[in-house]
Amino acid sequence: MLLAANWKMYGSPSQLAAYCEELLPQLEGCAHQVVLCPPFPLLPQAVMLCAGSELAVGAQNCHWAREGAFTGEVSPNLLAEMGVSWVIIAHSERRKLFGETDDTALARAKAAQEAGLSVIFCVGETLAEREGGETLSVLQRQTAVLAGLDPQKLVIAYEPVWAIGTGHNATPAQVAEAHAFIHERLQELTGQAVPVLYGGSVKPQNAGELLATPGVAGALVGGASLDAGSFFAIIQAA
Ligand code: PEP
Repeated sequence: MLLAANWKMYGSPSQLAAYCEELLPQLEGCAHQVVLCPPFPLLPQAVMLCAGSELAVGAQNCHWAREGAFTGEVSPNLLAEMGVSWVIIAHSERRKLFGETDDTALARAKAAQEAGLSVIFCVGETLAEREGGETLSVLQRQTAVLAGLDPQKLVIAYEPVWAIGTGHNATPAQVAEAHAFIHERLQELTGQAVPVLYGGSVKPQNAGELLATPGVAGALVGGASLDAGSFFAIIQAA
């Protein structure tokens, strides 16, 4: 299983130091892949603290160019050279608040893979789309761009937008249906099996049930990953 912590725009150097001090000893011998994605400025510290541990480091976004006149953007090659090994692409907050489209998300994911990063590519429907019976057609559209990616460096995160940060996780039946659909699509598009994570209000209390749902290869965790104890409880439930 892969368990990824998305800190979003939270955290500080002192919080990161305390977090690693608590979590890293607990992860010794851990059978799962665990990734911490803090904000950009904390990445060098995270890489340093996590060196030689079971905790890999990921970014929350990257640009599609190696370098250039792109003020405020971050190069995937720079991330790779710094020791970052994962990147989250197309998170729904990027899609909704920062104009991310299927095409720009694909460009970022391609560049990230070319730089040697593994990609957690997020897909998922809004509440209006689910209520309108459009869930599978949204997933069809969002995954359509993924054919050109390297399936060996790709993980999909199914994150229904209405479940992110709301405290209302999708039911195991909803997760199973979406995951089965995404698995089939990725097999068709890339010719290989690609792991699919669930994300959306995962917490210690629901992690066991969600992670035991057929087709679930792990979780992308936002709010509950900010506390080392809660995140470790989720890892233990896997
Ligand atoms: C996320 O940010 O990807 C996420 C799933 O957030 P939360 O766990 O807080 O719903």
